[in-house]
Amino acid sequence: MGHDVLCVDNFYTGTKRNVAHLMTNPRFELVRHDVTFPLYVEVDEIFNLACPASPIHYQNDPVQTTKTSVHGAINMLGLAKRTKAKIFQASTSEVYGDPEMHPQPESYWGRVNPIGVRSCYDEGKRCAETLFFDYYRQHRLRIKVARIFNTYGPRMHPNDGRVVSNFIVQALRNEPITLYGDGSQTRSFCYVSDLIEGFMKLMSSSDEITGPVNLGNPTEFTIGELAELVIALTNSRSRLIRLPLPADDPRQRRPDTTIAESKLGWSATTPLAEGLKHTIAYFDRLLAERGDAVRSPRVQSAEIRGAATARNVA
Ligand code: UDP
Ligand code: UDP
Repeated sequence: MGHDVLCVDNFYTGTKRNVAHLMTNPRFELVRHDVTFPLYVEVDEIFNLACPASPIHYQNDPVQTTKTSVHGAINMLGLAKRTKAKIFQASTSEVYGDPEMHPQPESYWGRVNPIGVRSCYDEGKRCAETLFFDYYRQHRLRIKVARIFNTYGPRMHPNDGRVVSNFIVQALRNEPITLYGDGSQTRSFCYVSDLIEGFMKLMSSSDEITGPVNLGNPTEFTIGELAELVIALTNSRSRLIRLPLPADDPRQRRPDTTIAESKLGWSATTPLAEGLKHTIAYFDRLLAERGDAVRSPRVQSAEIRGAATARNVA
């Protein structure tokens, strides 16, 4: 689109590898910086996505997680105020907590545990929304708040810890698939390219559209169904193993996307099976580059079965 882009990351969960292909572009600049510290730059649009989003990562340093959402929002809002930039906030479906309304509309206030292990993320993001709306009311900032539901796709980290990447990496390695609980809890998975299109539509919408607006794919799956689908698409020999359900794990989640459809003309169009195919191809390449022993079950399954039989005989 011809914009100059300044990418700011402290690489706590991100990697330079994901932006390496942009480094030679003269319009792209990369800064290693943590948004919990002030940032003085000149910009006219800000997309604030800073915060680890995987439970295992954000629970590793929960105090820093709250700081990233809260101090990070204050600094980015201060930056927007000084530069008069339009500012986008990546909020989350976690603001709804373990919801008693299904699907979740933006008007629902949520059911969030304020003192649990997920609270650093959930309450941090809720407080960031509060700050966005107070800067909007008090300083007339142009704000755009998106509530993002589970999203997946290429460039996720193999150790991200969230369900889609876990299941795909386990399936490609023919390792056990770790199903937490009985697998009957539900999520609705959005392919990353659909989500980014939603970001762009929200950011370019007229100023009275502040959000919050749900962005996600409304097709709901149980985690057990996801496991079966991943196994089928990778032609994997992995078996399911049951592990305990983590604390405060929401039972069900599906976005009500009426507002995104009517106000932004946006909806997620990539079916799960198709998005998974792209994501599996990405992880397959990544594991191959890393020299993973069992690198391509789809291609090598016959060979592996042969080897396994030979071992059994020996
Ligand atoms: N800030 C920043 N970059 C800027 C302007 C402000 O990082 O270009 C930070 C600044 O450190 C401040 C925060 O944003 O702590 C909030 O700024 P605001 O102007 O709202 O508050 P104030 O500076 O009046 O406390
Ligand atoms: N989950 C699972 N196995 C895994 C990782 C996650 O069964 O290896 C479950 C998890 O308990 C939750 C769902 O998958 O019910 C989605 O988890 P994720 O961490 O991806 O995101 P969340 O929506 O919980 O933030």
